[in-house]
Amino acid sequence: MQSLSAGALSARAAARALASEGLDVALFERNRLGFGASSRNIGFVFLHGRKGVSLDIARRNRLLLDNFHDEMGGDFEYRRNGGLVLCESQGQLSLIKEFVDARRRDGLNIEFIDRQSLLELAPDVDENVVGASFCSEDAQIGTATVVRALAGSAVRSGATVLEGYEVLEILTAGGRVTGISTHAGRFDAPIVVWATGPWHRMATSSGPLELPVKSMRNQLIATTPQLPRLKCVLYGAICLAAYTPLVKDLPSFSPDLFDRRETKAGECMMDAISQRSDGSYVFGGPVDDAGFSWEPDVDGVGRILRRFVRLFPGLFRERIQGKLGRPHSLYLRQPPHH
Ligand SMILES: Cc1cc2nc3c(=O)[nH]c(=O)nc-3n(C[C@H](O)[C@H](O)[C@H](O)COP(=O)(O)OP(=O)(O)OC[C@H]3O[C@@H](n4cnc5c(N)ncnc54)[C@H](O)[C@@H]3O)c2cc1C
Repeated sequence: MQSLSAGALSARAAARALASEGLDVALFERNRLGFGASSRNIGFVFLHGRKGVSLDIARRNRLLLDNFHDEMGGDFEYRRNGGLVLCESQGQLSLIKEFVDARRRDGLNIEFIDRQSLLELAPDVDENVVGASFCSEDAQIGTATVVRALAGSAVRSGATVLEGYEVLEILTAGGRVTGISTHAGRFDAPIVVWATGPWHRMATSSGPLELPVKSMRNQLIATTPQLPRLKCVLYGAICLAAYTPLVKDLPSFSPDLFDRRETKAGECMMDAISQRSDGSYVFGGPVDDAGFSWEPDVDGVGRILRRFVRLFPGLFRERIQGKLGRPHSLYLRQPPHH
């Protein structure tokens, strides 16, 4: 074996790239394909809030998605309809227009659209929303479908995918990686790609592996499938607070412009909404340091609901989908014990 990968989206991308270079690759997943953050992701490919190197990387990612989508004959969920940040009051109008002008100077394909144009993309938005910034470079993916497509492509290039295989230790000798150990035995390889997201801590023969990964919780809720209405991903205006470096020096910026009733000190309220290809809406959500929990946090769900009742009053006649209605706690302080 020449290369071993462990993890989801990142590991499958690595496995596919290595296998297509002709290396003998095995991919280890201790649960099932896309078990981690990759299957619970809200699907934003959002360039709106990026500049400099971060924008270059995000554009490169979009190009990879474009090429991979073509190569796969459209065999994963990928919508290239752009993305929005809502302007929720007259008071925010100057700031959002200044934001758009600044982002255009940064080289982004972005414009301000009025309420009438906005309604063509987001017909159910609250009557107080006066317009939005629209970036045509934003997109939306069904991350679980991308994971499956990457794994399929890796297998076709000769990689082996091993689900239910937990990596117990990274083996090293003389300061070099030599392979991994699992319950099913030892696998030797000179290259190991360790891409296990929040489960990044691992024992190696030469001591513990500690990566500088910060663990956080991101809560979302989802509805049952509805008729397709929302044409692109969008954020409420509160998200601009998460992008403070991009707005804080603009002449009209003031923290008082934002409705922060549902935001708590020390956390970031992402204020995101998307409609997936099965018609379900996904809303999120507070991002905080709550540690690991797979169970709903009533406070977080309540705040998400109140926020989106304000933005999309009509949608909340819908039932919340049981399984996906759980907030997903994926960025961990400690690995889960299961
Ligand atoms: C709720 C939520 C919403 C998000 N929304 C967005 C978004 O809209 N846009 C965006 O760009 N990003 C978003 N993200 C971030 C994005 O989902 C992650 O950056 C990405 O999915 C990480 O992929 P990964 O492959 O690195 O990790 P993961 O998808 O977490 O995969 C890690 C995998 O490793 C496996 N594993 C762990 N330990 C072992 C072991 N010892 N042996 C074998 N396998 C092991 C796990 O079972 C898991 O399947 C979101 C994240 C969350 C949590």
